[in-house]
Amino acid sequence: MRICRCPNQATKLLTGPAPIKWKKMKIEQATIYRCDHCGKVQFRKGDMTKHEKWYKLNPTNLHACFKFCQNLIKSEERYEVDGGYSAYGNGYSGMRTVFTCKVTGMEMYSFIAERRKLPVVNDGNSIRMPIQCDHYKNPENLIDDSNF
Ligand SMILES: [Zn+2]
Repeated sequence: MRICRCPNQATKLLTGPAPIKWKKMKIEQATIYRCDHCGKVQFRKGDMTKHEKWYKLNPTNLHACFKFCQNLIKSEERYEVDGGYSAYGNGYSGMRTVFTCKVTGMEMYSFIAERRKLPVVNDGNSIRMPIQCDHYKNPENLIDDSNF
């Protein structure tokens, strides 16, 4: 995160072009926080910290699996939560997306699951999708080049 203390820049970036009829110039000093990855600006440091943490182009969020890895299996699974502690006692069920690596057989989750605080993150059976992976298989590898 970069910190900019230029009042003109802050005003221009956050409020758009200046109004045409300015009677009196008003200078406001503001501290803005700029994202290292996409250049977005925000006034509050906490907002920018959060933005950078969950931004998809943050290097820690660039999962190899999501670069069209051919070993990534995406499937849907029904889950059920029993109503043991619920006042209504009925529980509920739904569908969830499950990511599995074809090579390791491991179930995996992405930074999106972390951001949403999904149970898969802490279930002990899943790993965070890697950023660099020896099993990564590029879609280009699928092209049959035996005829060339
Ligand atoms: Zn950003």
